[in-house]
Amino acid sequence: MPSRKKAKGKARKVAKEAAKEEDAAKPSTTAPVAAANQQQESLNAQMQQLLINTLMDECRNKEEQCRHGFIKDSHKDFEEITKFALAFNNNFWEEPDSTNLGDCFEIALRSTWDEFYDIWNSATKMDLAISCFTWAGTNDIVLEDGHIEEANANAAIASYLEECNAMHLRKTQASINSAKTAELFKGDEHTVVKYLRKKIPCSCLDKKYKEVKSMARMGSCYNPNCSLPDQKIERSRMLYCTRCSQVNYCSPECQKADWKIHKEDCLGYMKEKANFFSGLTGGLKRW
Ligand SMILES: [Zn+2]
Ligand SMILES: [Zn+2]
Ligand SMILES: [Zn+2]
Repeated sequence: MPSRKKAKGKARKVAKEAAKEEDAAKPSTTAPVAAANQQQESLNAQMQQLLINTLMDECRNKEEQCRHGFIKDSHKDFEEITKFALAFNNNFWEEPDSTNLGDCFEIALRSTWDEFYDIWNSATKMDLAISCFTWAGTNDIVLEDGHIEEANANAAIASYLEECNAMHLRKTQASINSAKTAELFKGDEHTVVKYLRKKIPCSCLDKKYKEVKSMARMGSCYNPNCSLPDQKIERSRMLYCTRCSQVNYCSPECQKADWKIHKEDCLGYMKEKANFFSGLTGGLKRW
């Protein structure tokens, strides 16, 4: 989302102050723990609402600007989709210390599944959600003047939702290709601009693409003991684990060296892929 951090910060502050006032105004009649939970819940609800308002304001201000394929705020699904996008986004960043991107996505998916069941189970609505993230990512580049990290995250989320959609709803693929998503998350400008430009129906990223297309697209080798600086390697030279397609390496040597560690994960990924959505759709029975 374009100024998510700012919006979140502002919203959190306002919500906290409002909760404080509320707290001071009414004497608590419930047990302290319950009261604290209640306060937290009301804080979360207020924050959610404030975030939506902030985003809505921002959208209205940008009414004359290109929407890069995303629906207008007068569209009947606008509120539902942006609400979902914000909730997914917030939950995605919930564990900022988590180094495992897959975990972050899973947290975001699980925590939005019930409330946004209609979106998760409609390919059309999911497409709208995807275009919400590509719209935000494109704006990060063209309006925010090179907020590449924000653009990376928005592009990665769009790609993840696209993968979910293809696997779970359209059934055009058997599994989620997380390597592609991870590449966008960590990717250079060339990788991100190329992805977003392909997703949007307008030509807003054409100029930027001309600037960045000569940059080599870089990826990182999954072997933690890789000898390359920053484990960075040109993407065109990378090798993928053909079993799970979740990890990539700079060389057969690195792949071999990492196999003892990756082996268990690799088998786990294969199983998880087969069960993940069936578990969710069947009333969350895996949890
Ligand atoms: Zn555009
Ligand atoms: Zn390597
Ligand atoms: Zn593997």
